[in-house]
Amino acid sequence: MIVCKFGGSSVADAELIRLVAKITQKSNDRRFVVVSAPGKRFAGDDKITDLLIQAHQGSARALEKVRARFLAIAEQLHMEEEIARELETIARRIFLSADYAASRGEYLSARILARLIDAPFVDAKDILCFDASGTLDFRRTYERTRAALKPLARAILPGFYGSLPDGSIRTFPRGGSDITGALVAGAMGAQCYENWTDVDGVFTADPRLVEGVRPIEQISYRQMRLLSSMGASVLHPDSIRPVFRAGIPIQLRNTFREDCPGTRIWADAHARLPLITGKPLESGMCVVAILHAEAPGLLENARASLDHAGIDCASHSVFADHLLFFLKAREFVRAVRALHETLVELPGDSRTCSSPSGTLSAENPDAH
Ligand code: ASP
Repeated sequence: MIVCKFGGSSVADAELIRLVAKITQKSNDRRFVVVSAPGKRFAGDDKITDLLIQAHQGSARALEKVRARFLAIAEQLHMEEEIARELETIARRIFLSADYAASRGEYLSARILARLIDAPFVDAKDILCFDASGTLDFRRTYERTRAALKPLARAILPGFYGSLPDGSIRTFPRGGSDITGALVAGAMGAQCYENWTDVDGVFTADPRLVEGVRPIEQISYRQMRLLSSMGASVLHPDSIRPVFRAGIPIQLRNTFREDCPGTRIWADAHARLPLITGKPLESGMCVVAILHAEAPGLLENARASLDHAGIDCASHSVFADHLLFFLKAREFVRAVRALHETLVELPGDSRTCSSPSGTLSAENPDAH
């Protein structure tokens, strides 16, 4: 049995929701499907979650945009009446709490997909339990998830939220639908957690910065967590733990390129190439991280590469499976390019990769 999660860019309009329905129905193993709220359809578009937060803060214009967007989807999928009723309820309750408002995009996405494929809708508020302090109660969450889902051949669930002991809605941090998917996979002992997004998976560096990046077929949970904490937004860092504990592999897949195998994340995975990433720090500095493959003399080669490019490195740290370099933030892109050329492109000329390109750091940075 497979648990799938589809990100915001995969459910951004009616045509895409139809595509998600098709992918889901292609395999009976894809029993439990978690969805995000509709994300951006094009640069400069709004994410539904952002609009809902603005609506809660008093913007009537944002609420109207949410209404118009969902009504357009509902019309194309022939479910106007039901969705119009849901939208009225949401409009009446939008000031109930910020978490309630923010969660309604996922709620409506899941309602729409469930109706489209005629599968049961299971509300996350009934199975994902937080304690009074707002910490997730794993034991109760797993018990309730199993009780609700075991009897069902298929179910559609909203990501991103659960409930507090008093029944009110509580959301995860932004991008938290990934965590919902991981919890459902962990509770149900899935054979795989498929995380469908808008990129082909993980690459040796961010293709928006570096030409000639190579796809990574597999990576360990630990490396993925490190990458996520370094700013690669392809997967929420808190979604690793539930699947890691249960030994469930995560398969990153691209909704827009179903033929692409993506990246597999599992315990014994072994990336064959070094991965280069990083993020800005405070006070004009940045950190560049190199996650190892078995590259002899990696530290020496990396230092030589930065020297050769005339980049001053303030300090570096060596860990068992990664290196960190601290540099001026304005040198970030040059450093990543120089390191990628030295550590990946030159030594890897003989290594061929079959998968096509995409980006390390997106579910387009704003599509969640
Ligand atoms: N819709 C939420 C967000 O925009 C959660 C998610 O997409 O995972 O952050």
